[in-house]
Amino acid sequence: MSKGLINKVFDKETTRREFLKLTGKGVAGFAVTSSILSMFGFGEEAMAAIALPEGLLVVDRSKCTGCQRCEITCTLQNDGKVQPFLSRIKVGENYNFGTTGPKINYQYEDGQMGNLKMSPVTCKQCREPFCANACPNGAIAADARTGARVVLKDKCVGCGVCTEACPWNLPTIDTENGYATKCTTCGSCVRGCPTDALKVIKWEDISKAHFFSKR
Ligand code: SF4
Ligand code: SF4
Repeated sequence: MSKGLINKVFDKETTRREFLKLTGKGVAGFAVTSSILSMFGFGEEAMAAIALPEGLLVVDRSKCTGCQRCEITCTLQNDGKVQPFLSRIKVGENYNFGTTGPKINYQYEDGQMGNLKMSPVTCKQCREPFCANACPNGAIAADARTGARVVLKDKCVGCGVCTEACPWNLPTIDTENGYATKCTTCGSCVRGCPTDALKVIKWEDISKAHFFSKR
């Protein structure tokens, strides 16, 4: 699939519906609907973002201040340094103008130049991962324990094809070591967030909510 087509399909704007379709249904095995999220106190700005081993990571944009602490804790945990550019959760890219970039009426759009709604974006651990499928060296594979799509350093040559292939450009090349890096579902970003904009709902609680929503 060409990059242009991918971008057309996903439109870079990972809307609530797209998040739910990709992660709620694709990863959790059933639809995590807005009514299920509301059972956990989330409002309209909340999006099911990624399946962690312990539960579903939910991003609540209404609580994100754009402080980028999640990015800092991510790189401290995974890279041993503070380097938000490398972060596997990306707030900075959407910081000024939101996910759709500058527009003529930007003051009404997302980001600190608009309505102050920040959009932290994380890897969706796609079932059919564009990054892994595009890698010419087979250097991105599913982790046997977590299922996360992880970079195999002994195979990665840092070419950046995965970055280009991902609809959100999430894999990032660390120019200091020459390897691509991407989310491994470690959950560090959640622990770093001071405002609860990132929260994990345990799988057992989601199962219960799903059960009761069907009654
Ligand atoms: S990095 Fe790979 S698995 Fe993650 S969202 Fe992008 S294409 Fe999907
Ligand atoms: S740490 Fe929380 S509030 Fe700060 S940028 Fe990340 S998600 Fe937003």
